[in-house]
Amino acid sequence: MQNRTLKDQITNLLSLSEDELQSAIDFLGQIEKIVKLPPAAEQLIRNLKVLFEIVDQTYENFENELSNSLKNIRLLASDLKKSNDLLYNETKKHKYLLFTLKEVARQIKRKTSYETVNVDDLNLEQVLDLISRISDEFYNSRKNMLIKDSNFQYFAAGFPNIIFQTDNVGKFIFLNDAWQKITGFRVEDTVGKLYRSFIYDEDISADENYYQRLISGESDYNNYEIRIKTITGETKWVEVFSRLYLSDDKEILGIYGMMMDISDRKRAEEELIKTKEIAEEASRAKSEFLAVMSHEIRTPMNGVLGMTGLLLETNLTPEQREYVETIRVSGDTLLTIINDILDFSKIESGKMELEEAPFEIKDCVEDTLQLLAPEAIKKRLDLLHLIEPDVPDYIIGDVTRLRQILYNLVSNAIKFTEQGEVFVSVKLKEKKGDDILIEFAVKDTGIGIPKDKHSTIFQHFSQVDSSTTRKYGGTGLGLAICKRLVNLMGGEIWLESEVGFGSTFYFTIKSKIPKVQLPKVIVKSTQQILANKRVLLVDDNKTNLYILALQCKNWGLLPRSTVNPREALEWIKNGDPFDFAIVDMLMPEMDGIELTRSIRQYKNKYQLPVIMLSSAGIDERDKETYDTLFNAFAAKPIKQSQLYELMVSIFAETSDLQTIKSKSEQPEPPVKAEKLVFNYPVKILVAEDNAINQKLIVKILNQLGYRPDVASNGLEVIDHLNKQRYDIIFMDVQMPEMDGLEATKYILQYWKNSERPIIVAMTANVMHGDKERCLNAGMDDYISKPIISNDVRNIIVKWYDKIKQRDFGTKQKVKTAVMLEPDVVFGLKELDNSEYFKQVIELYLEIAPQLINEIKNATSRNDFVSLKKAAQNLRRASLNIGAKRLAEICLRVENLNGSKPPEEVDALVKRLQDIYNLTYKELKNI
Ligand code: ADP
Repeated sequence: MQNRTLKDQITNLLSLSEDELQSAIDFLGQIEKIVKLPPAAEQLIRNLKVLFEIVDQTYENFENELSNSLKNIRLLASDLKKSNDLLYNETKKHKYLLFTLKEVARQIKRKTSYETVNVDDLNLEQVLDLISRISDEFYNSRKNMLIKDSNFQYFAAGFPNIIFQTDNVGKFIFLNDAWQKITGFRVEDTVGKLYRSFIYDEDISADENYYQRLISGESDYNNYEIRIKTITGETKWVEVFSRLYLSDDKEILGIYGMMMDISDRKRAEEELIKTKEIAEEASRAKSEFLAVMSHEIRTPMNGVLGMTGLLLETNLTPEQREYVETIRVSGDTLLTIINDILDFSKIESGKMELEEAPFEIKDCVEDTLQLLAPEAIKKRLDLLHLIEPDVPDYIIGDVTRLRQILYNLVSNAIKFTEQGEVFVSVKLKEKKGDDILIEFAVKDTGIGIPKDKHSTIFQHFSQVDSSTTRKYGGTGLGLAICKRLVNLMGGEIWLESEVGFGSTFYFTIKSKIPKVQLPKVIVKSTQQILANKRVLLVDDNKTNLYILALQCKNWGLLPRSTVNPREALEWIKNGDPFDFAIVDMLMPEMDGIELTRSIRQYKNKYQLPVIMLSSAGIDERDKETYDTLFNAFAAKPIKQSQLYELMVSIFAETSDLQTIKSKSEQPEPPVKAEKLVFNYPVKILVAEDNAINQKLIVKILNQLGYRPDVASNGLEVIDHLNKQRYDIIFMDVQMPEMDGLEATKYILQYWKNSERPIIVAMTANVMHGDKERCLNAGMDDYISKPIISNDVRNIIVKWYDKIKQRDFGTKQKVKTAVMLEPDVVFGLKELDNSEYFKQVIELYLEIAPQLINEIKNATSRNDFVSLKKAAQNLRRASLNIGAKRLAEICLRVENLNGSKPPEEVDALVKRLQDIYNLTYKELKNI
C-alpha cells in the first residue's frame, strides 16, 4: 500500500499500527500458501488484495489531483490580483478620460443646439456621441455659411454669372440660377454631382492644374478659361474665378467662385485671329510685292544714275549741268526711298536675316562717320566719336546693318542740327562670358523732338511735323527701319530729347565676342614711338577735347588739354616741353591759324610740330599758309587709325620734318581714274546682257583707264576665256543661254584655280541669299547694282595682289569648249589618228548645215514628219562628235508638232542655228 492517507485511515479504523497492518497484510498473503483454504476464501483473499490496490490507487490519484487543484488555485489567485490591479488602473484612466471628454463637451456645446444638455450625467459613450453630433453641427454650419448668408443668396440669384461652391471632394453644394441659364442643367439635378464631371474632357487636366495651384499655395485665386458641357452636348467657354474655401484653421472645405459665359467673346476672338491672319497674309503679300517692285525699279535706276554720272563728266552748258544735277539729286533721293522701302518690306515680310560674322566696331563707326563727314563739314558741325576702352575691338554681328542704323541716326542728327556737334559714343553695357550688350548713343545739338512724339517717330512714315518733310526731306521710314533692325539684333532703341537743345538716340545690340583673337590695328613697336610724348590739345569743343585726350592716353601719350588758346600759349611761353600740338581750326576767340602763328613766334615747325584738325575742309587758296604753319592737317572726323598714323609719321621722321604731309586730307580724294590702270593693270571681261548696264560698266571701267571686253551671256564668257586670259570677270548673274552661276561652275570645272580669273558677281538682286548663292557657286566677290565707280575700283584694288601672284605660265591654251562634250571630243581626238578625226569633223560640218536647211524647210511647210526625221539625224550626228548642246536642241525640235504656236517654233529653229554657229566655231578651234 502506497498511499499515506489510506494507510492512516485503515490503521486508525482497525486500531493497528502501521507495522501490524503490514504484518496482517503479509499474513493474508502467506495464508494461501500455508493453509488450504476453501475456494471462496481464496477468492476473497485475492479480491481483497485487488480491492486494496484499487483503493490505494484511487487514493493516490485523488491526492495527486488535489495537489494539482491546489496549485491551480494558487496560480489563479495571483492572476486575479494582477487583473484587479489593471482594472483598477484602467478605471482610473477611464474616469479621467470621461472627465476630460465631459470637459471638452462642456466647452464645445456652447452656442450649439446641445447647449442645455447636462454633461455630468452622461457615460463615456454618450459623451462621445454628443461630441460627434456637436462637431457635425459645427461643420455643417460652416459649410453652408456662405450659402446661408441671405444677402449673398439674394445677390447670387440675380447674378448673370454662375456662382458656385463645392465641398472638399469637389461636389457642387451650391449653384445659382445662372447655372441652368448657361448650361441648361437644373440646379437641383446638379447639386451633389462632381464639379469636374461638367468640364469638357480636354480641359480637365488644365482645370486640375489650376486646382493644384490653389492647394499648393502657389496662388490665392485662379482666373482661367475653360469649356463646360451643356445639356445639349455642346460646350461653352467660361471664364472661371475661384478660391479655396478654408476653415479658420486652414482646413480645405471646398472651392467657391464664379463662371462667366465668354462664348461670344471667344467666337469674336477666333474670328479676330482669322481676320488677323488674313490681314497678315495680305500684308506679307504686300511686302513681298513691294520688295519685288523696288527691286525691279532698282535695275533701271542703275542705268539712270550711272548715265547721269557719266553725263556730268562731259562738257555741258551751265544750264544743262543744272538740269542733269537735278536729275542726279532726284535719282539719288528716289534710290534712297526705294532702298528704304525695300529694307522695310524685307523686314516686314520676315525675309531679313542678319549676318553673323566678326567685325571691328571702330571701323564700323568710323566708316559711317567718314561717309557723312562731307555733310557735317558743309554745315560746319563737329562730328565726334568715342568708343570706350572696355568695348571689345571685334564683335560678332551684321556690320552692314549696324552701319545702316548708325548712318540713319547720324545723318538725321546732322540733318536736324544747325550748329554745334554730333557725337557718337559706344559703351559696354553688360558682359556675361562671351555675351555682351553694347549701347550706342548718337547725340546732337539740333532742333530736338517734342516729348509727345518720342514714341511715335519710330513708327513708319512718321515725322515730327509734316512741314519737316518739305524743309528736310525724308520718308519717315529711317527710324522705323532702325527700330526693326535693332530689335532683330536683340536690342532696343529710345531717345531723350528736349526741343531746342538737341536729341540723343540710344540703341543697344546683343552680340558676342569672337572666340578667335583677331589682329589689333595698332602695332606694338610703333606704339613705343609715341610713349610718354607730351602733347598739347587745344579745342573749344569740350567733348572733342575729352575724346582726343582719352585717345592720346590710350596710346601712351601725355596730353595736356585746354579749351582756351591763350592758356595754351601761356603754357608754351612758360616752357612746357610739348613734343607736338593738335589744334582745332574753328575757335571763337582765336582760331587755329592765329594760335599757330603765335606759337610759331616761340617754336618753329621742327621744335613743335602742329597738327591742325578742321571740320571746315581746306580751302586750296590757303594751302600755302597751311603749309608754312602746320606740319599736317586733317579734316574732322579723323579716324583714330589715321590720327595715330599721322603722329607716328611725325615722330618717325624727326630728321626731315618738312617732308611730312598729311595723309588724312578728308574726304580722301579717290585715286584718279586714269591712274588706277597704271597702278593696277588687269585685263577685264564684263558679262552683262542688258545693253544699258553693259554701257554703264564699260564707261566706268573706261574712266578708270580699262578697256574691257564684253560678253552678253555665259556661253560668250567661256568663248572669250578660251581665246584670251582675263584677270577679272564682272559677271551679271541673270543672263540668257547660260547664266552667271552656271558659267562660274563651268569655269571652276575646267580652269585651274591658279589660272582662272577672279569672278565678281554683279546683280540687282538684293534679296536674302543672293550673295550666298553667288559665293556658293564659286564666285569670289560680289557687287550690287547700281554699280558705282568706287565699288569697281575697290574690287580691283582688293584682288590685285591675288591676281599678281597668279602664274599663267605660257600663253593660256584653249581648255575646252562649251558646246562640245569634252570627253567625247577629246576622246575622238586622242584616237591618235588625227586624219580620221579631221575627216569626222569635216563630214559633220558638211552634213549638219544640210540637215538644218531641211529642218527650216520642213518648218515652213508645217511638215512635222520630215522635221522630225532631219532633227533626229542631226541629233545622232551631233552626239557622235560630242556636240551636246546642239543635240539637246535637236531633241526639242524633234518633239515639235502642230500644237506649238509658229513664233515658238521659229524661235526654236533660230536657236538651233545659233547653237550650231557656236558649235562650228568650237570645232574649228580644236
Ligand atoms: P526721315 O527720312 O523723315 O528722316 P526718320 O524715320 O529717320 O525719317 O525720322 C522721322 C522723323 O523724326 C524725322 O522726319 C524728324 O521729324 C524726326 N527726327 C529724327 N531724328 C531727329 C533728330 N536727330 N533731331 C530732330 N528730329 C529728328
